Amino acid sequence: MLLPALAAPPDRTALRFPDRSLTYAGLAAEAAAVAAGLAGASRVAVWARPDSRTCVAIVGALLAGVAVVPLNPKLGSRELDHVLADSSPDLVIDDELPAGEPGALPTVDGETPALIVYTSGTTGPPKGVVLPHRALASNLDALASAWEWTADDVVVHGLPLFHVHGLVVGVIGVLRRGGTVHHLGTFSAAAASAALAGDGTVFFGVPTMYHRLTAGDAGGFRHARLLVSGSAALPATVHARVRELTGQEVVERYGMTETLMNTGVRAGGERRPGTVGPPLDGVEVRVVTEEGVPAPRDTLGEVEVRGPNLFLEYLNRPDATAAAFRAGWFRTGDLGVLEDDGYLRLVGRQATDLIKTGGYRVGAGEVENALLEHPAVREVAVTGEPDDDLGERIVAWVVPDSDVTADELASHVAGLLTPHKRPRVVRFVDSLPRNDMGKVLKRELR
Ligand code: ATP
Ligand code: MG
Repeated sequence: MLLPALAAPPDRTALRFPDRSLTYAGLAAEAAAVAAGLAGASRVAVWARPDSRTCVAIVGALLAGVAVVPLNPKLGSRELDHVLADSSPDLVIDDELPAGEPGALPTVDGETPALIVYTSGTTGPPKGVVLPHRALASNLDALASAWEWTADDVVVHGLPLFHVHGLVVGVIGVLRRGGTVHHLGTFSAAAASAALAGDGTVFFGVPTMYHRLTAGDAGGFRHARLLVSGSAALPATVHARVRELTGQEVVERYGMTETLMNTGVRAGGERRPGTVGPPLDGVEVRVVTEEGVPAPRDTLGEVEVRGPNLFLEYLNRPDATAAAFRAGWFRTGDLGVLEDDGYLRLVGRQATDLIKTGGYRVGAGEVENALLEHPAVREVAVTGEPDDDLGERIVAWVVPDSDVTADELASHVAGLLTPHKRPRVVRFVDSLPRNDMGKVLKRELR
Protein backbone atom coordinates (compact mmCIF):
# COMPACT_ATOMS: atom_id res chain seq x y z
CA MET A 1 0.00 0.00 0.00
CA LEU A 2 1.41 3.34 -1.09
CA LEU A 3 -0.18 5.53 1.59
CA PRO A 4 -0.62 3.55 4.80
CA ALA A 5 -0.96 6.75 6.87
CA LEU A 6 -4.37 7.32 5.27
CA ALA A 7 -5.71 3.93 6.38
CA ALA A 8 -4.98 4.77 10.02
CA PRO A 9 -4.66 8.55 10.02
CA PRO A 10 -2.11 9.89 12.50
CA ASP A 11 -3.11 12.90 14.58
CA ARG A 12 -1.03 15.34 12.56
CA THR A 13 -1.17 17.89 9.77
CA ALA A 14 -0.77 16.24 6.36
CA LEU A 15 -0.88 19.29 4.08
CA ARG A 16 -0.17 22.93 4.74
CA PHE A 17 -0.74 25.11 1.67
CA PRO A 18 -1.36 28.86 1.45
CA ASP A 19 -5.04 28.08 0.68
CA ARG A 20 -5.60 25.82 3.72
CA SER A 21 -4.26 23.04 5.93
CA LEU A 22 -5.61 19.49 6.18
CA THR A 23 -5.08 16.90 8.89
CA TYR A 24 -4.57 13.25 7.98
CA ALA A 25 -8.17 12.55 9.00
CA GLY A 26 -9.41 15.37 6.78
CA LEU A 27 -7.29 14.29 3.85
CA ALA A 28 -8.33 10.64 4.25
CA ALA A 29 -12.03 11.62 4.21
CA GLU A 30 -11.79 13.98 1.22
CA ALA A 31 -9.58 11.62 -0.77
CA ALA A 32 -11.95 8.69 -0.09
CA ALA A 33 -14.81 10.75 -1.54
CA VAL A 34 -12.73 11.47 -4.66
CA ALA A 35 -11.81 7.79 -4.93
CA ALA A 36 -15.50 6.87 -4.81
CA GLY A 37 -16.28 9.50 -7.45
CA LEU A 38 -13.71 7.93 -9.76
CA ALA A 39 -15.24 4.46 -9.69
CA GLY A 40 -15.02 2.90 -13.15
CA ALA A 41 -12.34 5.29 -14.46
CA SER A 42 -8.88 4.10 -15.34
CA ARG A 43 -7.10 7.39 -16.04
CA VAL A 44 -7.69 10.95 -14.83
CA ALA A 45 -5.94 14.21 -15.66
CA VAL A 46 -5.57 16.76 -12.86
CA TRP A 47 -4.75 20.44 -13.30
CA ALA A 48 -1.79 20.46 -10.94
CA ARG A 49 -1.90 23.90 -9.41
CA PRO A 50 0.14 24.25 -6.23
CA ASP A 51 -2.79 23.91 -3.84
CA SER A 52 -4.40 21.42 -1.47
CA ARG A 53 -7.15 20.52 -3.96
CA THR A 54 -4.56 19.11 -6.37
CA CYS A 55 -3.17 16.87 -3.62
CA VAL A 56 -6.64 15.66 -2.58
CA ALA A 57 -7.49 14.80 -6.19
CA ILE A 58 -4.24 12.94 -6.77
CA VAL A 59 -4.34 11.08 -3.47
CA GLY A 60 -7.97 10.09 -4.16
CA ALA A 61 -7.00 8.67 -7.55
CA LEU A 62 -4.05 6.77 -6.06
CA LEU A 63 -6.35 5.22 -3.45
CA ALA A 64 -8.77 4.19 -6.22
CA GLY A 65 -6.00 2.69 -8.37
CA VAL A 66 -6.73 5.23 -11.12
CA ALA A 67 -3.67 6.57 -12.98
CA VAL A 68 -3.12 10.33 -12.69
CA VAL A 69 -1.86 12.61 -15.46
CA PRO A 70 -0.75 15.81 -13.69
CA LEU A 71 -1.15 18.82 -15.99
CA ASN A 72 1.13 21.83 -15.87
CA PRO A 73 -1.31 24.73 -15.33
CA LYS A 74 0.73 26.90 -17.68
CA LEU A 75 0.43 24.56 -20.67
CA GLY A 76 -0.39 26.35 -23.89
CA SER A 77 -3.25 25.05 -26.03
CA ARG A 78 -0.97 23.17 -28.44
CA GLU A 79 0.84 21.41 -25.56
CA LEU A 80 -2.42 20.64 -23.78
CA ASP A 81 -3.87 19.13 -26.96
CA HIS A 82 -0.81 16.90 -27.23
CA VAL A 83 -0.99 15.69 -23.62
CA LEU A 84 -4.75 15.07 -23.67
CA ALA A 85 -4.69 13.34 -27.04
CA ASP A 86 -1.72 11.22 -25.98
CA SER A 87 -3.05 10.25 -22.55
CA SER A 88 -6.82 10.17 -23.32
CA PRO A 89 -8.02 10.50 -19.71
CA ASP A 90 -11.56 9.44 -18.74
CA LEU A 91 -12.00 12.82 -17.12
CA VAL A 92 -10.14 16.02 -16.28
CA ILE A 93 -10.32 17.40 -12.75
CA ASP A 94 -10.19 21.17 -12.59
CA ASP A 95 -11.96 23.09 -9.81
CA GLU A 96 -14.66 20.57 -8.93
CA LEU A 97 -13.54 17.39 -7.15
CA PRO A 98 -15.68 14.32 -8.16
CA ALA A 99 -17.32 13.19 -4.94
CA GLY A 100 -18.95 9.83 -4.26
CA GLU A 101 -20.20 8.00 -1.19
CA PRO A 102 -16.96 6.63 0.33
CA GLY A 103 -16.90 2.86 0.37
CA ALA A 104 -14.28 0.17 0.70
CA LEU A 105 -11.07 1.01 -1.17
CA PRO A 106 -9.68 -1.48 -3.66
CA THR A 107 -6.40 -3.32 -3.12
CA VAL A 108 -4.03 -1.81 -5.66
CA ASP A 109 -1.43 -4.08 -7.25
CA GLY A 110 2.15 -2.76 -7.35
CA GLU A 111 2.29 -2.90 -11.15
CA THR A 112 -0.82 -0.71 -11.52
CA PRO A 113 0.05 2.66 -13.09
CA ALA A 114 0.03 5.37 -10.43
CA LEU A 115 1.14 8.36 -12.49
CA ILE A 116 1.70 9.29 -16.10
CA VAL A 117 4.13 12.17 -15.89
CA TYR A 118 5.31 14.09 -18.93
CA THR A 119 9.08 14.71 -18.98
CA SER A 120 10.37 18.26 -18.73
CA GLY A 121 10.89 18.46 -22.49
CA THR A 122 14.47 19.66 -22.04
CA THR A 123 15.81 17.69 -24.99
CA GLY A 124 12.70 17.13 -27.14
CA PRO A 125 8.90 16.94 -26.99
CA PRO A 126 7.66 15.68 -23.59
CA LYS A 127 7.00 11.92 -23.32
CA GLY A 128 4.39 10.37 -21.01
CA VAL A 129 6.19 8.22 -18.46
CA VAL A 130 4.05 5.49 -16.90
CA LEU A 131 5.08 4.95 -13.28
CA PRO A 132 3.63 2.02 -11.30
CA HIS A 133 2.81 2.08 -7.56
CA ARG A 134 5.77 -0.29 -6.98
CA ALA A 135 8.27 2.28 -8.32
CA LEU A 136 6.93 5.04 -6.07
CA ALA A 137 6.78 2.90 -2.93
CA SER A 138 10.25 1.38 -3.30
CA ASN A 139 11.89 4.66 -4.23
CA LEU A 140 10.29 6.61 -1.41
CA ASP A 141 11.47 4.02 1.11
CA ALA A 142 15.01 4.20 -0.27
CA LEU A 143 14.94 7.99 0.09
CA ALA A 144 13.58 7.74 3.61
CA SER A 145 16.46 5.53 4.60
CA ALA A 146 19.02 7.77 2.86
CA TRP A 147 17.74 10.94 4.48
CA GLU A 148 16.61 9.50 7.84
CA TRP A 149 13.22 10.81 6.88
CA THR A 150 10.42 10.24 9.42
CA ALA A 151 6.87 11.23 10.37
CA ASP A 152 8.36 14.06 12.46
CA ASP A 153 9.66 15.85 9.37
CA VAL A 154 7.92 18.96 8.09
CA VAL A 155 9.07 19.20 4.46
CA VAL A 156 9.13 22.73 3.04
CA HIS A 157 9.12 23.41 -0.69
CA GLY A 158 7.63 25.45 -3.49
CA LEU A 159 8.06 22.94 -6.31
CA PRO A 160 5.53 22.39 -9.10
CA LEU A 161 3.22 19.41 -8.62
CA PHE A 162 3.39 18.15 -12.22
CA HIS A 163 6.95 16.78 -12.10
CA VAL A 164 8.19 13.90 -9.97
CA HIS A 165 10.43 16.11 -7.81
CA GLY A 166 7.59 18.10 -6.25
CA LEU A 167 4.81 15.54 -6.60
CA VAL A 168 6.43 12.19 -5.86
CA VAL A 169 9.22 13.16 -3.49
CA GLY A 170 7.72 16.36 -2.12
CA VAL A 171 4.11 15.25 -1.56
CA ILE A 172 3.56 11.49 -1.90
CA GLY A 173 6.90 10.86 -0.17
CA VAL A 174 5.91 12.96 2.82
CA LEU A 175 2.45 11.38 3.04
CA ARG A 176 3.94 7.88 2.87
CA ARG A 177 6.01 8.72 5.96
CA GLY A 178 3.07 10.31 7.78
CA GLY A 179 4.78 13.70 8.02
CA THR A 180 3.76 17.19 6.96
CA VAL A 181 4.01 18.91 3.57
CA HIS A 182 4.50 22.66 3.96
CA HIS A 183 4.04 23.97 0.43
CA LEU A 184 4.81 27.63 -0.17
CA GLY A 185 2.49 28.00 -3.16
CA THR A 186 5.14 29.95 -4.98
CA PHE A 187 8.77 29.77 -3.91
CA SER A 188 10.46 32.79 -2.43
CA ALA A 189 13.62 32.68 -0.37
CA ALA A 190 11.93 34.75 2.35
CA ALA A 191 8.91 32.43 2.62
CA ALA A 192 11.09 29.30 2.67
CA SER A 193 13.34 30.87 5.29
CA ALA A 194 10.36 31.77 7.48
CA ALA A 195 8.95 28.23 7.20
CA LEU A 196 12.30 26.73 8.22
CA ALA A 197 12.59 29.18 11.11
CA GLY A 198 9.21 27.79 12.22
CA ASP A 199 8.62 24.03 12.42
CA GLY A 200 10.08 23.16 8.96
CA THR A 201 12.83 20.54 9.15
CA VAL A 202 13.71 19.68 5.52
CA PHE A 203 13.85 21.81 2.36
CA PHE A 204 13.62 20.46 -1.20
CA GLY A 205 14.70 22.80 -4.00
CA VAL A 206 16.15 23.12 -7.47
CA PRO A 207 19.48 24.91 -8.04
CA THR A 208 17.90 28.20 -9.12
CA MET A 209 16.16 28.40 -5.73
CA TYR A 210 19.45 27.94 -3.89
CA HIS A 211 20.95 30.53 -6.16
CA ARG A 212 18.16 32.92 -5.25
CA LEU A 213 18.45 32.42 -1.53
CA THR A 214 22.11 33.39 -1.64
CA ALA A 215 20.94 36.83 -2.75
CA GLY A 216 18.16 37.15 -0.19
CA ASP A 217 17.08 36.20 3.29
CA ALA A 218 18.47 32.79 4.22
CA GLY A 219 18.49 32.99 8.05
CA GLY A 220 15.83 30.31 8.57
CA PHE A 221 17.85 27.81 6.55
CA ARG A 222 20.28 27.60 9.50
CA HIS A 223 17.62 25.68 11.44
CA ALA A 224 16.92 22.99 8.85
CA ARG A 225 17.82 19.36 9.46
CA LEU A 226 18.47 18.75 5.76
CA LEU A 227 18.65 20.81 2.55
CA VAL A 228 18.23 18.82 -0.67
CA SER A 229 18.83 19.91 -4.26
CA GLY A 230 18.00 18.12 -7.51
CA SER A 231 16.57 18.28 -11.07
CA ALA A 232 19.69 20.01 -12.40
CA ALA A 233 23.31 20.39 -11.37
CA LEU A 234 23.99 22.52 -8.29
CA PRO A 235 27.01 24.67 -9.16
CA ALA A 236 29.88 24.19 -6.70
CA THR A 237 29.96 27.96 -6.24
CA VAL A 238 26.32 27.99 -5.07
CA HIS A 239 27.00 25.06 -2.73
CA ALA A 240 29.86 27.03 -1.16
CA ARG A 241 27.86 30.23 -0.87
CA VAL A 242 24.94 28.46 0.84
CA ARG A 243 27.38 26.92 3.32
CA GLU A 244 28.85 30.35 4.12
CA LEU A 245 25.42 31.88 4.63
CA THR A 246 23.66 29.09 6.50
CA GLY A 247 26.32 26.79 7.90
CA GLN A 248 24.58 23.97 5.99
CA GLU A 249 25.90 21.78 3.22
CA VAL A 250 23.28 20.98 0.59
CA VAL A 251 22.71 17.32 -0.21
CA GLU A 252 22.36 16.52 -3.93
CA ARG A 253 20.30 13.77 -5.44
CA TYR A 254 19.94 12.67 -9.05
CA GLY A 255 16.74 11.49 -10.60
CA MET A 256 14.54 11.62 -13.62
CA THR A 257 10.92 11.09 -14.50
CA GLU A 258 11.57 7.58 -15.85
CA THR A 259 13.50 6.30 -12.84
CA LEU A 260 12.49 8.53 -9.93
CA MET A 261 15.57 8.99 -7.75
CA ASN A 262 18.75 7.07 -8.57
CA THR A 263 21.48 8.40 -6.32
CA GLY A 264 21.63 10.69 -3.34
CA VAL A 265 24.05 11.87 -0.71
CA ARG A 266 23.06 10.36 2.67
CA ALA A 267 21.94 12.60 5.55
CA GLY A 268 25.12 11.78 7.46
CA GLY A 269 27.25 11.32 4.34
CA GLU A 270 30.07 13.32 2.87
CA ARG A 271 28.98 16.23 0.65
CA ARG A 272 31.22 16.46 -2.38
CA PRO A 273 30.23 19.40 -4.56
CA GLY A 274 29.77 18.38 -8.18
CA THR A 275 28.69 14.85 -7.26
CA VAL A 276 25.21 13.46 -6.67
CA GLY A 277 26.17 10.76 -4.18
CA PRO A 278 26.08 6.96 -4.37
CA PRO A 279 23.15 4.82 -5.65
CA LEU A 280 20.12 4.59 -3.39
CA ASP A 281 19.33 1.25 -1.72
CA GLY A 282 18.07 -1.26 -4.28
CA VAL A 283 19.11 0.86 -7.27
CA GLU A 284 22.00 -0.23 -9.48
CA VAL A 285 23.92 2.47 -11.34
CA ARG A 286 26.71 1.93 -13.83
CA VAL A 287 28.62 3.96 -16.40
CA VAL A 288 29.17 2.40 -19.81
CA THR A 289 31.23 3.08 -22.92
CA GLU A 290 29.68 3.78 -26.31
CA GLU A 291 29.69 0.00 -26.90
CA GLY A 292 27.59 -0.50 -23.79
CA VAL A 293 30.20 -2.23 -21.65
CA PRO A 294 31.06 -0.98 -18.14
CA ALA A 295 33.60 1.82 -18.37
CA PRO A 296 36.72 1.75 -16.19
CA ARG A 297 36.35 3.77 -12.96
CA ASP A 298 36.95 7.48 -13.44
CA THR A 299 36.07 7.28 -17.15
CA LEU A 300 33.33 9.34 -18.75
CA GLY A 301 30.40 7.36 -20.14
CA GLU A 302 26.63 7.05 -20.24
CA VAL A 303 24.82 6.38 -16.96
CA GLU A 304 22.59 3.29 -16.91
CA VAL A 305 20.17 2.33 -14.16
CA ARG A 306 18.38 -0.85 -13.07
CA GLY A 307 16.03 -1.46 -10.15
CA PRO A 308 12.46 -1.43 -8.78
CA ASN A 309 12.34 2.36 -9.25
CA LEU A 310 11.98 2.11 -13.05
CA PHE A 311 8.93 3.13 -15.08
CA LEU A 312 6.83 0.68 -17.10
CA GLU A 313 6.92 2.38 -20.50
CA TYR A 314 6.57 5.60 -22.47
CA LEU A 315 2.88 5.91 -23.21
CA ASN A 316 2.06 5.04 -26.85
CA ARG A 317 5.78 4.96 -27.68
CA PRO A 318 6.90 1.32 -27.89
CA ASP A 319 9.76 2.43 -30.16
CA ALA A 320 11.06 4.96 -27.63
CA THR A 321 10.57 2.48 -24.78
CA ALA A 322 12.56 -0.21 -26.59
CA ALA A 323 15.30 2.26 -27.49
CA ALA A 324 15.60 3.38 -23.87
CA PHE A 325 16.70 -0.05 -22.64
CA ARG A 326 19.87 -2.04 -23.31
CA ALA A 327 20.06 -5.57 -21.90
CA GLY A 328 17.62 -4.73 -19.10
CA TRP A 329 19.35 -1.48 -18.15
CA PHE A 330 17.66 1.89 -18.64
CA ARG A 331 19.83 4.29 -20.62
CA THR A 332 19.51 7.66 -18.91
CA GLY A 333 21.15 9.65 -21.70
CA ASP A 334 23.17 11.36 -18.95
CA LEU A 335 26.95 11.42 -18.94
CA GLY A 336 28.86 10.69 -15.80
CA VAL A 337 31.91 9.36 -14.05
CA LEU A 338 31.81 6.96 -11.09
CA GLU A 339 34.38 7.84 -8.46
CA ASP A 340 36.28 5.17 -6.54
CA ASP A 341 33.83 5.06 -3.66
CA GLY A 342 30.73 4.91 -5.87
CA TYR A 343 29.85 8.61 -5.82
CA LEU A 344 28.52 9.66 -9.22
CA ARG A 345 29.72 12.83 -10.92
CA LEU A 346 27.39 14.02 -13.70
CA VAL A 347 28.79 16.12 -16.52
CA GLY A 348 25.74 16.63 -18.71
CA ARG A 349 23.63 14.88 -21.26
CA GLN A 350 24.78 12.77 -24.16
CA ALA A 351 22.48 14.58 -26.61
CA THR A 352 23.50 18.14 -25.81
CA ASP A 353 26.47 18.12 -23.47
CA LEU A 354 29.00 15.77 -24.98
CA ILE A 355 31.29 17.87 -27.12
CA LYS A 356 33.71 16.09 -29.42
CA THR A 357 36.45 18.58 -30.11
CA GLY A 358 39.84 17.93 -31.69
CA GLY A 359 39.61 14.22 -30.88
CA TYR A 360 38.69 14.78 -27.23
CA ARG A 361 35.37 14.10 -25.50
CA VAL A 362 34.48 16.99 -23.20
CA GLY A 363 31.47 17.17 -20.85
CA ALA A 364 29.85 20.61 -20.92
CA GLY A 365 29.28 20.53 -17.14
CA GLU A 366 32.98 20.50 -16.38
CA VAL A 367 33.60 23.61 -18.46
CA GLU A 368 30.52 25.30 -16.97
CA ASN A 369 31.78 24.69 -13.43
CA ALA A 370 35.20 26.09 -14.27
CA LEU A 371 33.64 29.22 -15.77
CA LEU A 372 31.38 29.71 -12.74
CA GLU A 373 34.49 29.98 -10.60
CA HIS A 374 35.32 33.23 -12.39
CA PRO A 375 33.91 36.17 -10.40
CA ALA A 376 32.58 37.93 -13.52
CA VAL A 377 30.40 34.95 -14.50
CA ARG A 378 26.89 34.90 -13.08
CA GLU A 379 25.36 32.14 -15.22
CA VAL A 380 26.73 30.03 -18.01
CA ALA A 381 25.79 27.31 -20.47
CA VAL A 382 28.32 25.51 -22.65
CA THR A 383 27.45 23.93 -26.00
CA GLY A 384 29.24 22.47 -29.00
CA GLU A 385 29.07 23.96 -32.48
CA PRO A 386 30.27 22.50 -35.81
CA ASP A 387 33.86 23.48 -36.58
CA ASP A 388 35.76 22.66 -39.77
CA ASP A 389 39.02 22.15 -37.96
CA LEU A 390 37.99 20.65 -34.60
CA GLY A 391 34.81 18.80 -35.56
CA GLU A 392 33.08 20.73 -32.81
CA ARG A 393 34.20 23.82 -30.95
CA ILE A 394 33.30 24.71 -27.38
CA VAL A 395 30.98 27.70 -27.06
CA ALA A 396 30.23 29.44 -23.75
CA TRP A 397 27.04 31.47 -23.34
CA VAL A 398 27.75 33.78 -20.44
CA VAL A 399 25.55 36.06 -18.37
CA PRO A 400 28.21 38.39 -16.97
CA ASP A 401 28.20 40.04 -13.54
CA SER A 402 30.87 42.58 -14.49
CA ASP A 403 33.14 43.46 -17.41
CA VAL A 404 35.23 40.61 -18.69
CA THR A 405 36.64 39.61 -22.07
CA ALA A 406 36.35 36.33 -23.92
CA ASP A 407 40.13 35.92 -23.76
CA GLU A 408 40.17 36.29 -20.00
CA LEU A 409 37.52 33.59 -19.64
CA ALA A 410 39.26 31.23 -22.04
CA SER A 411 42.56 31.51 -20.20
CA HIS A 412 40.80 31.12 -16.85
CA VAL A 413 39.45 27.74 -18.05
CA ALA A 414 42.78 26.74 -19.60
CA GLY A 415 44.39 27.39 -16.20
CA LEU A 416 41.97 25.09 -14.36
CA LEU A 417 41.45 22.31 -16.91
CA THR A 418 43.42 20.82 -19.78
CA PRO A 419 43.72 23.56 -22.40
CA HIS A 420 41.60 21.82 -25.07
CA LYS A 421 38.60 22.30 -22.74
CA ARG A 422 38.72 26.10 -23.01
CA PRO A 423 35.88 27.83 -24.89
CA ARG A 424 36.81 28.92 -28.42
CA VAL A 425 33.84 31.26 -28.59
CA VAL A 426 32.21 33.26 -25.77
CA ARG A 427 28.80 34.82 -26.35
CA PHE A 428 27.60 37.32 -23.77
CA VAL A 429 23.82 37.22 -23.20
CA ASP A 430 21.33 38.89 -20.82
CA SER A 431 19.77 35.65 -19.67
CA LEU A 432 19.60 31.93 -20.46
CA PRO A 433 16.40 30.23 -21.69
CA ARG A 434 15.09 28.02 -18.85
CA ASN A 435 12.05 25.83 -18.26
CA ASP A 436 9.87 25.83 -15.13
CA MET A 437 12.38 23.68 -13.23
CA GLY A 438 15.13 26.19 -13.95
CA LYS A 439 16.81 23.88 -16.48
CA VAL A 440 18.66 25.56 -19.32
CA LEU A 441 17.08 24.78 -22.70
CA LYS A 442 20.24 24.29 -24.74
CA ARG A 443 18.38 23.46 -27.95
CA GLU A 444 16.98 27.01 -27.84
CA LEU A 445 20.48 28.43 -27.51
CA ARG A 446 21.65 26.63 -30.64
P1 ATP B 1 13.31 15.48 -21.45
O1 ATP B 1 13.55 14.04 -21.08
O2 ATP B 1 11.90 15.71 -21.91
O3 ATP B 1 14.32 16.06 -22.35
P2 ATP B 1 14.27 16.13 -18.77
O4 ATP B 1 15.19 14.97 -18.95
O5 ATP B 1 14.86 17.42 -18.33
O6 ATP B 1 13.39 16.36 -20.09
P3 ATP B 1 13.28 15.20 -16.25
O7 ATP B 1 12.96 13.75 -16.25
O8 ATP B 1 12.44 16.09 -15.42
O9 ATP B 1 13.15 15.72 -17.72
O10 ATP B 1 14.76 15.46 -15.80
C1 ATP B 1 15.72 14.44 -15.64
C2 ATP B 1 17.11 14.95 -15.98
O11 ATP B 1 17.48 16.04 -15.12
C3 ATP B 1 18.18 13.92 -15.78
O12 ATP B 1 18.27 13.04 -16.86
C4 ATP B 1 19.42 14.79 -15.61
O13 ATP B 1 19.93 15.19 -16.87
C5 ATP B 1 18.89 16.03 -14.91
N1 ATP B 1 19.17 16.00 -13.46
C6 ATP B 1 18.37 15.60 -12.46
N2 ATP B 1 18.96 15.73 -11.26
C7 ATP B 1 20.20 16.23 -11.50
C8 ATP B 1 21.33 16.59 -10.68
N3 ATP B 1 21.30 16.49 -9.36
N4 ATP B 1 22.44 17.07 -11.31
C9 ATP B 1 22.47 17.19 -12.66
N5 ATP B 1 21.47 16.87 -13.48
C10 ATP B 1 20.34 16.40 -12.91
MG1 MG C 1 14.94 13.14 -19.90
